[in-house]
Amino acid sequence: MKRILRPRTCRPYPELFEPERGEAPYRIEDSNGRPLPSRGLVNKVERWMFVPLDPWGRPVARHEGGHVRDSPPNLPRVRYDLRILHAVEDARINLGLDWREIPVELDPVALANVRKLAAEDEQRGDLFALVIRSVASIGTNAEADLADLLTLYESQGTFVQGQVDRVRKGLERSRARARKPVAPFGAALRLARKLARELRRAGLLEADGSSSSPMGTGCCIGHGLIDDDEEGGDGGGQLAEAGVAGELHVTRAPLTVSLRGGRLAGRGLGARREGSIIRYAHRWPSDRAIFRGRRRRSSATVLVDVSGSMSLSADSLDRLLLATPAGALVAIYSGRGTEGELRIVASGTRRAGPKHLKPFARGNIVDVPALEWLARQPEPRLWVSDGAVTGVGDHASDAIEERCTAIVKKGRIERIGNLEGTVRRLVDARARRTDVPAVTRQHHRAALRARAARLARKAADADS
Ligand SMILES: [Zn+2]
Repeated sequence: MKRILRPRTCRPYPELFEPERGEAPYRIEDSNGRPLPSRGLVNKVERWMFVPLDPWGRPVARHEGGHVRDSPPNLPRVRYDLRILHAVEDARINLGLDWREIPVELDPVALANVRKLAAEDEQRGDLFALVIRSVASIGTNAEADLADLLTLYESQGTFVQGQVDRVRKGLERSRARARKPVAPFGAALRLARKLARELRRAGLLEADGSSSSPMGTGCCIGHGLIDDDEEGGDGGGQLAEAGVAGELHVTRAPLTVSLRGGRLAGRGLGARREGSIIRYAHRWPSDRAIFRGRRRRSSATVLVDVSGSMSLSADSLDRLLLATPAGALVAIYSGRGTEGELRIVASGTRRAGPKHLKPFARGNIVDVPALEWLARQPEPRLWVSDGAVTGVGDHASDAIEERCTAIVKKGRIERIGNLEGTVRRLVDARARRTDVPAVTRQHHRAALRARAARLARKAADADS
């Protein structure tokens, strides 16, 4: 029975709408259960799309596909509330889809929701929101519903309907003139400017052209969501606030160099206190490890944040690898925009050469998926990081921080602030895992510490 309740995922293929083939596929994310400003979001520059991945999300995906097909990659800066242009652009896209006979038809629940939101706008006295919502519904099956609702609101309803009619007529006329399925973007720009003028005249805009209406973004095209230079958009922040981390690509550098930092894994044969073959009788007085046997397999995983804030050079990473015992898994990660790379640079008895230690980019972005990866690797799990974590657009947020904290806790991950501490910790792990009694172990550890100190001194000398 459970299977029936499991939602079907419906993934759109925006690549099919593209007038010209893009260089990479779109990244598709489920907008369900995420505190996004809109159910659908698309960014043509970064090539990602948020839509509800269930059968009811189809009209949203269709609308976003319309943006991919016909919207410019970036909306221009305007001297009025950007939500006005968003709404008119939505109307243009919806009318185009309707003309192509693939109309945006909301399901009954979504339809009822639009009507409810519009009624709430009116009750709040938020006429600006009512105009934006009604204009954005042009070309969808919500348009008639809202027109019906507006008849209840007398003069205010008449005003809103007047704006809707003018935008619709203007777009239809431009489309006919252009002899294309969709009106040119210039028409949307012109009509939005005119609409802004009308709203200002009606006292719905401040002197600087903005509106204080708390209504969310009128449209879903996520221009400037990543690029914060863009006016009116701290969208990357919004996405990070929603806990959206970058996409992680796990790669493996060619492991061409052998590790020389001693053995951690101790998989080979050695002295043991239990066994059947006596090989080390001379050890009886000291530690009784007289048998020859296979040592317990042990290991460690080190994940190194190599983003700009950590300012780790390829040189210092090289030194970490010099001190890394065989058997440890070492990976570095960094990111930019909406993606990041986790690169394995040491595994088993091999490591990568110095030229493969250069960071992929300067940002974090993928801390969440990188830590998820670390939580799946052998213990002890060491995370070399200053603890600063981000999501898409390299934005820090409470949501991203909480996710990382949870993964660290659940995955028994140990955070270490610098490479020197990591080398010390690896050395400790080695000492702890050797099958020898405490006294010898202490001695062993002291020797290893001395070795680590020697390496650190050598590193400091190399730096100066
Ligand atoms: Zn839209």
